[in-house]
Amino acid sequence: MSNKIGYVWNTLYSWMDTGSGPVFAANFEAKLQPISHHMAHPDTKRRFNELVCTSGQMDLLTSIKAIAATDEDILRVHTPAVLDNLKRISGLAGGGDVGDGITHVGNGALNIAYLSAGGAIELTKQVVSREVSTGYALINPPGHHATRNQSMGFCLFNNTSVAAAYAKDVLGLKRVAIVDWDVHHGNGTQDIWWEDSSVLTISLHQNLCFPSDSGFTSERGEGEGFGYNLNIPLPPGGGNAAYHYAFEKVVIPALKKYQPELIIIGSGFDASIMDPLGRMMVTADGFKTMAKMAVDCAEEVCGGRIAFIQEGGYSPQYLPFCGVAVVQALTQCDTIGDSLIGLVGGMGGDILLEHEKQIVDEVEKLLVDLH
Ligand code: ZN
Repeated sequence: MSNKIGYVWNTLYSWMDTGSGPVFAANFEAKLQPISHHMAHPDTKRRFNELVCTSGQMDLLTSIKAIAATDEDILRVHTPAVLDNLKRISGLAGGGDVGDGITHVGNGALNIAYLSAGGAIELTKQVVSREVSTGYALINPPGHHATRNQSMGFCLFNNTSVAAAYAKDVLGLKRVAIVDWDVHHGNGTQDIWWEDSSVLTISLHQNLCFPSDSGFTSERGEGEGFGYNLNIPLPPGGGNAAYHYAFEKVVIPALKKYQPELIIIGSGFDASIMDPLGRMMVTADGFKTMAKMAVDCAEEVCGGRIAFIQEGGYSPQYLPFCGVAVVQALTQCDTIGDSLIGLVGGMGGDILLEHEKQIVDEVEKLLVDLH
């Protein structure tokens, strides 16, 4: 088996035009001023890649070329309406909103979305075939809010689901798990696999954050899929302790019980302590610990087959350190530390609080329906 660690990045990921609004479109009447950086501006991810390059990690990684996903790849998990909508808007000179008022995409966004989903596929393909042992796909735009029928929440195609469907339909896998630690609920991923037990979906997120009407523990899938969707809605303020407790009590036991042939991590960094769109307190080291736990679990249940696929994250200052920390968990070689830990450490996120423990313990009981 190869001990190479795969890495996906494409310059065009940083060409996503997210419009001139702050989050909603700039609007004269609403006094929403134009701003150079929309919340989902791709610079945050470009800076992550640049820290990978300048930290010395790139020398330890094997570059994987993103190849554009095909319509067939996209249509395994989305209705034609999603594709047609994006094709239409992407063809307009100035682009437009995909439908929810916060997801502006510029001209040519379709091509970048194909490359993003395609990057997820390429990494998955090489992890499954063991050309690389593990890997990180730093792709953009993100995907986990995109439902079967609609792009939304800065997400165009559901990249982790496109990769999981490829692993099943093309590579012949029978069981795939998607663990999503982005601070927002993975509503799109949940929707796509709602009635399907062949993909276990687990979302750790801030309770009532986004979308505020989903992500509850009571959403468990239906029919064949009942029991194969686990939501862990953590209270605002949760840090490393809450997330690690959730991993110990729910995520790792669920993966061991389910025995997937491949684990996909939806790796968003907006649960970080400096993120403007979340209210959680995870540090770079906290993400690294979760990554290590996931990698160790993959060694035990699926021959080490684990692929990390980028989701959200909006702190241009801190996301690069969180991202590189996870990459270092894969390369098992630390070339840099967290240069902001002096500022963000010691704020209480390392202490497990009773109301955090309670919700995790409640979800742990749901594992009984997982087989
Ligand atoms: Zn998010």
